[in-house]
Amino acid sequence: MDYDDMLDRALDETPDIEGSSDRFDVPDPDVRQEGNVSVYENFQSTVDRLGRDDDHVMKFLQNELGTSGHIDESGRARLTGEFGARRIHDAVEAYTEEFVLCSECGLPDTHFEREGGALLLRCEACGALSATSG
Ligand SMILES: [Zn+2]
Repeated sequence: MDYDDMLDRALDETPDIEGSSDRFDVPDPDVRQEGNVSVYENFQSTVDRLGRDDDHVMKFLQNELGTSGHIDESGRARLTGEFGARRIHDAVEAYTEEFVLCSECGLPDTHFEREGGALLLRCEACGALSATSG
C-alpha cells in the first residue's frame, strides 16, 4: 500500500459531518455524584434552551432513566442513582427528538398544541403538526 492509498483510506473513514451544522445540540450535562444521587447541575439552562417546561422534561428523564427524582430550589435535577453525563445526555437527546425537533424539517422551532387529550408538536418553521407520545 502506498501513501496515496493510505490517504484515501483515511479520508474514507472520516465521518461525514456535512449538514450537521443546523442540528440542535443538547448542551453537555454537568453531572455531579452526591452519594446515591446524580445532580444534574445545568438542568435549568438546558430546559431553557429547549424552551420546554422543566416538569415535563423531568418526568421524561425519570421515565427514561427508570428512577425517581425532583427539581431542587436551585433548579438542579436530582436523580436517584448513579447516572453518568453520557447517559443523561442520551436521555435529554431522546426528549429533544420526541418533543422539540420537528419530524418534518428537523428544526427546534416548535411548540405544543393540545387536541383532545393528545399532545401535538407544531413547527413554526414549516407548519407541520406531528404527534408525540406525551
Ligand atoms: Zn418543521
